[in-house]
Amino acid sequence: MSNVEAPVIGKDALGRPVKDLSVIPWWGVDRKEIEWYPKINYDVCAGCGICFVTCGRRVFDWDIEKERPVVARPYNCMVGCNTCAMICPCDAIEFPSKEFLKKWVAKAHVTKKAFEIVDQIMPKNHLSEEEVTATPEADPKR
Ligand code: SF4
Ligand code: SF4
Repeated sequence: MSNVEAPVIGKDALGRPVKDLSVIPWWGVDRKEIEWYPKINYDVCAGCGICFVTCGRRVFDWDIEKERPVVARPYNCMVGCNTCAMICPCDAIEFPSKEFLKKWVAKAHVTKKAFEIVDQIMPKNHLSEEEVTATPEADPKR
């Protein structure tokens, strides 16, 4: 895990403090290398503000003139999170596919790194990274 501190870079339209979370690597990978962030379909966005208000990572800001959210800090988004898309009442928010995410999980050796962390608190009784990646459905424990 990373010990990098995210600096405060300003405030959003509601006056809430904003940090630059993009400086924090994702499992050792530069966050800005991973194009995981929301895209808004303005053809269907109703401007309700749920995404802007609820995202704690301040990915969104608010365009007062257009009365719509904007993806102001895309790399503040947590890789793998899609909460805003799930709660958007208009299905106006899109993310890359699960396959895109799985490629990064493999490329960054996330499974191996996670096992190493969990091994600190439990006996090593699990499959290898290769086994998990190759045969996820074959493991009855999953
Ligand atoms: S939650 Fe959906 S409809 Fe509401 S402002 Fe965000 S994108 Fe638009
Ligand atoms: S996916 Fe999560 S972190 Fe990313 S913008 Fe939506 S609510 Fe924020």
